Amino acid sequence: MTAQGPAAVRGARGVVVTGAARGLGRGIVEVLAEAGYAVVAVDLLPDVAETAASLGEGHEALVGDVTDPDVIRSAAERAAALGDGLLAAVFNAGVASPGDSVSYPLTEWDRVLDVNLRGVFVGARTVRPLLAPGGSMVMLSSIAASQGFAARAAYCSSKAGVEGLVRSLSMEWGPEGIRVNAVAPGTIETEMQRRMIEAGRLSSESALQRIPMGRIGHPHDIGNAVEFLVSPRAAYVSGVVLPVDGGWAGGGLPATV
Ligand code: NAP
Repeated sequence: MTAQGPAAVRGARGVVVTGAARGLGRGIVEVLAEAGYAVVAVDLLPDVAETAASLGEGHEALVGDVTDPDVIRSAAERAAALGDGLLAAVFNAGVASPGDSVSYPLTEWDRVLDVNLRGVFVGARTVRPLLAPGGSMVMLSSIAASQGFAARAAYCSSKAGVEGLVRSLSMEWGPEGIRVNAVAPGTIETEMQRRMIEAGRLSSESALQRIPMGRIGHPHDIGNAVEFLVSPRAAYVSGVVLPVDGGWAGGGLPATV
């Protein structure tokens, strides 16, 4: 059956993805490009140019800081031009920065909250007037928003804030036909995860014990979920946080005890 509503009739296919030089962002843009969307990939890292080039013709890179609304505005305008309108923005850029809470530098707390939460809010309200009718946003949360992770107070707080944003903005913009959702990844193989392991804050073995599916996630697992949420197939999905974690967050007792 065909989906009803604005999502079924729009032609826009431009999408902005932040933090797209590597990791989940790169996985997301690869899936979106494969599905026919026109992508503008944004990142602090100049490597984002190579990421965009690897997608083929019709995609662009923009080097910049996602906490700067001018960067997001430029990216959204480029995506709208490339894709006959701006269909979606994916706020993926984020920083982790674990550390013990008593000695954790408040400058670091401010940086994590600035990128992971304030940056997403700034991006969302900057993009909102540029979105095509029936457009949407996807924010990257984490299982750390709903589960306690030791020595991640700033990170967990920032991601819990993102989930609050999703619920609030979906109520505010739903009447205008705009959907706002989040994906909450579990442990996915990226540079961020590698640094956690190097810092002694995570081990693959301890993570695998929590994952019923028995494997660490791939960035394309997240890309596939994002592609669903921006597509017309999700035309009636808004205000949700979709866990993509191999079953971690639903965990109780494993099959073997
Ligand atoms: P990653 O490998 O560290 O990649 C993140 C990218 O975002 C990097 O290229 C980084 O550049 C960029 N970035 C950071 N701050 C930025 C800023 N202010 N402006 C523009 N670009 C910026 O991280 P990831 O693992 O792919 O994570 C992506 C998102 O998923 C994050 O929001 C993260 O919290 C979330 N997440 C990841 C996992 C996981 O297991 N990997 C699990 C749950 C949630 P720099 O290196 O220059 O900072």
